[in-house]
Amino acid sequence: MLPAKFKTPSQKSLNRRMASIPDGLVRRCPVCHTTFLTDHWEPARLCPACGYGFRLTAMQRIKLTMDTFQETNAQLTVPDRYTDAAYQAKIARGRQLTGLNESVLTGFGTIDHQSTAIGVMDAFFVMGSLGTATGEKITRLFDEATAKQLPVILFTSSGGARMQEGIHSLMQMAKVSAAVARHSQAGLLYIVVLCDPTTGGVTASFAMQGDLILAEPHALVGFAGRRVIEQTIHQTPPADFQRAETVLQHGFIDAIVARPQLKQRLADLLRLHKGES
Ligand SMILES: [Zn+2]
Repeated sequence: MLPAKFKTPSQKSLNRRMASIPDGLVRRCPVCHTTFLTDHWEPARLCPACGYGFRLTAMQRIKLTMDTFQETNAQLTVPDRYTDAAYQAKIARGRQLTGLNESVLTGFGTIDHQSTAIGVMDAFFVMGSLGTATGEKITRLFDEATAKQLPVILFTSSGGARMQEGIHSLMQMAKVSAAVARHSQAGLLYIVVLCDPTTGGVTASFAMQGDLILAEPHALVGFAGRRVIEQTIHQTPPADFQRAETVLQHGFIDAIVARPQLKQRLADLLRLHKGES
């Protein structure tokens, strides 16, 4: 038996100690389950043990990635025809959490002197779901980039099509895909960065249409959720079957890039595509 001074603290004592730590100062990594203090984790928000990148708002991502940034189509939002009170409450909460009017932030700017169009989906806005205005903003981003002869970088993070907007939401998959095709036919570069999580209708359309598809370490990348798959095939898939590392092994991703290296890697790829070195 251990001497009293080495005894494991009781749960009650642990709870008391945890209660004295301010909200948000302790996080548990969903990948490796390490618990850690977040006092030094800004701005990249990484797990110190496994490098998993916690979710960022679109604005935080822009600050990490861009040297200059000018937002476009910020006013586009959920159409008035969706009047359901529960849905309206979700939208209001998303606005409050992100400062955005929709689940994607779009605009133009520079990374290391390279001009580019950029879109960032925000998982804090109704789970980054693809609504009518989300699709419209991404479509306009591609069309404006085509007109300006610029590449597009898109960070995806989404639960998929937005059920509350029904068929109008599903239509965005085709609409954005058509804009991606127009951009591609103009010989322009499209780089996707798959962030945790990228699923559903976003995976089934523009998240997989990049000329180059990068992903963050341990990001969940899939179409249907684990429970749906288990109930459909009556088997238990391996624990890592929808993680970026597994998806890379199966050829759907070109590279996994850790968050601290991402900005430089994107700048290098933009420069390479322009024929500079
Ligand atoms: Zn971790």
